[in-house]
Amino acid sequence: LNRRLAEFGTTIFAEMSALALSTGAINLGQGFPDTDGPEEVREAAVRALRDGLGNQYPPGPGVPELRTAIAAHQQRRYGLSCDPDREVLVTAGATEAIAASLLALLEPGDEVIALEPYYDSYAACIAMAGGRRVPVTLHPDDDGFCLDLDELRDAVTDRTRLLLINTPHNPTGTVLTRAELAAIAELAVERDLLVVTDEVYEHLVFDDAEHVPLATFPGMRERTVTISSSGKTFSFTGWKVGWVTGTQELVTAVRTAKQYLTYVSAGPFQYAVAEALRLPDSYFDGFRADLRRKRDLLGDGLRTAGFEVYQPKGTYFITTDITPFGEKDAHRFCRALPERCGVVAIPNSVFYDDPAAGRSQVRFAFCKRDDVLHEAAVRLRRLA
Ligand code: PMP
Ligand code: GLN
Repeated sequence: LNRRLAEFGTTIFAEMSALALSTGAINLGQGFPDTDGPEEVREAAVRALRDGLGNQYPPGPGVPELRTAIAAHQQRRYGLSCDPDREVLVTAGATEAIAASLLALLEPGDEVIALEPYYDSYAACIAMAGGRRVPVTLHPDDDGFCLDLDELRDAVTDRTRLLLINTPHNPTGTVLTRAELAAIAELAVERDLLVVTDEVYEHLVFDDAEHVPLATFPGMRERTVTISSSGKTFSFTGWKVGWVTGTQELVTAVRTAKQYLTYVSAGPFQYAVAEALRLPDSYFDGFRADLRRKRDLLGDGLRTAGFEVYQPKGTYFITTDITPFGEKDAHRFCRALPERCGVVAIPNSVFYDDPAAGRSQVRFAFCKRDDVLHEAAVRLRRLA
């Protein structure tokens, strides 16, 4: 293993899912739903397979039906216009979109500012691209986790090339507000920075939170690569259909890298995701309402069990603090959790440059059936 990747072993998601399998514990670790997405979307995939749509290499940028549906979705939800032929690129999940964007846009030694705790692939992909990651830490407060805009401004140097923003934010569940996003946009324009924004949880927002794409702010369209995926919105994480939208110049750059990573992927599923994106608003509203209820169900269970809970406004994760149990080491806590009570969770400490920063934070996923969440709540009470 080369030096760039030396610090990246097995991802925490693989480690914890393997632990769930070997112990038979309830897996609230890796974020995937235990109920598949809409029947009609699955049927569309079957039809595509049967009709020979996408069984051979699809076009490099993605099948036209899907690119058109992505552009229509951006227009319908956010009033963002993009040309399906030049400003949309289909990728192997958001994961490839992140990798290809960083490989395409960074020069060796460029600094990338990422909100910390950060999704684990960010650190590895910045390293693979030869960049330097500069974390800006979200701080827990009464209202969840909060971005300190002064800290963000202070983190920008002459070497900063790119802001890597994730909202709604995994693992904290923070949804950046319009005012915070406006300030990020102003900073990007003032310091002439590129922005890669990971919006895979765009439809998973609750209460008064609203998802606003960074690309909609003044001066941002021409400097922003927007990334999303069908995995979270439609509950098909195994299909790995993601996408990038942005100006022709940016999308062409990302596509240049993407060509040599996977070239193309998921042919028949691309047709099915095109149908999914055309689902009526009632689908998106119903999905969100269902998840909000699940958030409250698991949140109540965690509080009753004794965890300190940071209320998430988006995503399907709840970050907790384990200090009330007299515990300080999240990774050790998570390794022991299946044995202690038959539940698997993720230690947030691995999402920090300095693991001490998130040492007592543990993340639980609530994208699970109600009976599973009820059972998990019962089991977690054994910790008391
Ligand atoms: N970004 C974030 C913040 C995520 O949580 C995930 C998935 N868990 C991804 C990207 C990757 O998405 P995909 O499965 O579409 O590659
Ligand atoms: N994004 C998912 C999570 O945060 C996991 C994806 C993965 O396993 N790479 O749990």
